[in-house]
Amino acid sequence: MDAMTPVYLDHNASVPVRPHVAEAMAAALAQPGNPSSVHGFGRAARRRVEDAREQVAALVGAAPDRVVFTSGGTEANALALRGCGRRRVLVSAIEHDSVLKAVDEPEVIAVDGRGVVDLSDLKGLLEAEDEPALVSVMLANNETGIIQPVAEAARLAHQYGALVHCDAVQAAGKTRVSLDALGVDFLTLSAHKIGGPQGVGALVMADDALDLSPLLAGGGQERGRRSGTENVSGIVGFGVAARDAICERLAILELRDELERRALALAPDARVVGSGQDRLPNTTCLLLPGVGAQVQVMALDLAGVAVSAGSACSSGKVKASRVLRAMGFSPELSACAIRVSLGWNSAADDVERFLDAWRGVVARAREKGPAASAA
Ligand code: PLP
Repeated sequence: MDAMTPVYLDHNASVPVRPHVAEAMAAALAQPGNPSSVHGFGRAARRRVEDAREQVAALVGAAPDRVVFTSGGTEANALALRGCGRRRVLVSAIEHDSVLKAVDEPEVIAVDGRGVVDLSDLKGLLEAEDEPALVSVMLANNETGIIQPVAEAARLAHQYGALVHCDAVQAAGKTRVSLDALGVDFLTLSAHKIGGPQGVGALVMADDALDLSPLLAGGGQERGRRSGTENVSGIVGFGVAARDAICERLAILELRDELERRALALAPDARVVGSGQDRLPNTTCLLLPGVGAQVQVMALDLAGVAVSAGSACSSGKVKASRVLRAMGFSPELSACAIRVSLGWNSAADDVERFLDAWRGVVARAREKGPAASAA
């Protein structure tokens, strides 16, 4: 690879569109038709949507009629949390903002120092009130990749009459996700995290009889659960991405482990957050004490390597990681972690480029001494 070609190591923010996806979307865009129209063009568009629904359902082992297409993970999370009819909502402290901010004043379930949701805290919250709740626990954290005990949380929550939602946006495509094995009532997916287009997602329901009030009223699409003309080409792309997301897990895991081993050799005081935990195979949360995440991200960007600091926030600003804070890291350390996330098109060269650039970051920080900024 040309040393000037930028390297993309930010798959948890958005996965590059898979070639098959782009082809299928271009073909769909070339066809007219509203899936609700009764003529042949409309019926063909409907078929494309329903084929994709089967592909997305298959990714998580669900029946196709349980898939509600949305404009993305954010909307699917809001639909579950606001539409489920429960006033009491419990969410883990490390959820994505689209869960944490979906309802006013959710109750927050603590996580432990390993970055894992504290089930005894969940039990205490469930016991504290009689009103049945909705519990939302993500399957894999977007910053650390740490896998959460969702099936256990669901079993526990159901004993207290709660409904359970799982944001599986980061886990899907990187690890096996089964709606049945998780035992949750609602599951969120997002196309652009599995190599599909941005702006499409789905809420998958375990049971068609579950109440779900729509956020958007209108033409009654998606069996009344989400009105608005379907994003046909986006949904087609989502379907193809779901089909192709047969985990590139092993190859990615080897690359990721190599990256971590060599990064820690370059900077022995650095650490990989969650290294002893069950984690996504593509994600490294790398903490370099004394060197702010913003400094690292910018220096890497100048060297042509794109990573991020925690989750990408719409302002583009880098803040101390809320997830690391919830794990008990100090504010200073929480501001010094970057996220490197690999994907289907990552190669050994990308890892070399990252290590070369990061070696420079470490060397400059060491020259400045321990006071190197944590800005
Ligand atoms: N949930 C998680 C865990 C995420 O990482 C993201 C995106 O970063 C979302 C939800 C939001 O998904 P979307 O970008 O499709 O709205």
